[in-house]
Amino acid sequence: MAKQFKRETLCVQAGWTPKKGEPRVLPIYQSTTFKYDTSEQMARLFDLEDSGYFYTRLQNPTNDAVAAKIAALEGGVAAMLTSSGQAANFYAIFNICQAGDHFVCSSTIYGGTFNLFGVTMKKLGIDVTFINPDAPEEEISTAFRPNTKALFGETISNPTLDVLDIEKFARIAHSHGVPLIVDNTFPTPINCRPFEWGADIVVHSTSKYMDGHATSVGGAVVDSGNFDWDAYADKFPGLCTPDDSYHGLIYTKAFGKLAYITKATAQLMRDLGSIQSPQNAFLLNLGLETLHLRMPQHCGNAQKVTEYLSKNDKVAWVNYCGLPGNKYYELAQKYMPNGSCGVISFGLKGGREVSIKFMDSLKLAAIVTHVADARTCVLHPASHTHRQLSDEQLLEADIRPDLIRFSVGIENADDIIADIEQALNA
Ligand SMILES: *Cc1c(COP(=O)(O)O)cnc(C)c1O
Repeated sequence: MAKQFKRETLCVQAGWTPKKGEPRVLPIYQSTTFKYDTSEQMARLFDLEDSGYFYTRLQNPTNDAVAAKIAALEGGVAAMLTSSGQAANFYAIFNICQAGDHFVCSSTIYGGTFNLFGVTMKKLGIDVTFINPDAPEEEISTAFRPNTKALFGETISNPTLDVLDIEKFARIAHSHGVPLIVDNTFPTPINCRPFEWGADIVVHSTSKYMDGHATSVGGAVVDSGNFDWDAYADKFPGLCTPDDSYHGLIYTKAFGKLAYITKATAQLMRDLGSIQSPQNAFLLNLGLETLHLRMPQHCGNAQKVTEYLSKNDKVAWVNYCGLPGNKYYELAQKYMPNGSCGVISFGLKGGREVSIKFMDSLKLAAIVTHVADARTCVLHPASHTHRQLSDEQLLEADIRPDLIRFSVGIENADDIIADIEQALNA
């Protein structure tokens, strides 16, 4: 289906193709387990000799249908759903890194991912070096070591909204014989498909635009199938040498282009859990069915709101890669010519106190810890997600104390702007 249909059609139809008499709508297989006729049939599943369902921690038909849709949208060969975006990022790295290994990561990434990589994974013996993504290739290359196993970045970083030069990152990763992993949460595959620019693995927090309605926390890992693990077999023993927990099976030999996702499912999901519930996968699928309609509305509204803000003399600064003159405007035009995302940030003259008063005066836009929702919402990182940091530390993290993160929804742009205007005047 991936090859023959365009994105809009994939959003609506990919993943679930019912046969005669089956439900037209993807059913929720709310079952932990699946029945077999003979003990032998089940045994073959446990040895990965047959494919089939036996326990939802490993695979579930509802989840698989939704994963297949996301894989088709990204142009990948396979995907795996996870219980959250955090789990997706952890699995994406842990599938190819073990204690003693190292990876390189853009320093402008989501705060949760920053903690996961910089603190929690360090405790597992996996080391990370954070680099400035805008640094020249030669400078970023100096962060690589013989035990480096991956390069990681976000297409549009949350909350700083930097745009990743994916081709540059892919060149650097491949020149060191490692895959490029890209978190594509903010643009979604409607606006950017990192595989087309050389990324090897894509991860998502599906909790954001993909679900789109703020109902279900979830994540996804997608494999392009393009990285040649066997060409660097000494770096990736987990994929290229026998797995003792499956009678010595070698993933690359047994599954070819599906090696990475099969290992993530058959080994990591088996051992660590963090599956997405079938109920949440069902809701995610409803979100995906309209993703192609919602993204242009988010982007169009964000464009209008940022154009309004940049002309208002109460506003100190506006950050949105869709605005000409923005530091990332050219990169955004290259990688996301049809629009980037609906998340913007800005600061008000008068600083932190004025920003807080403004937020409290908003009526339509709600103060919530969330972004990328159909409903316009707003957050002040210095008072909320990053409140433990001093003003000095905030600036180090590139988060100004007056920064308002504003997630523009799919309401009418005039109403969003009117709400901003009355709050600015309050
Ligand atoms: C929210 C987010 C995550 C974490 O996802 P959860 O679903 O909240 O666990 C990871 N990366 C990015 C870019 C995000 O915005």
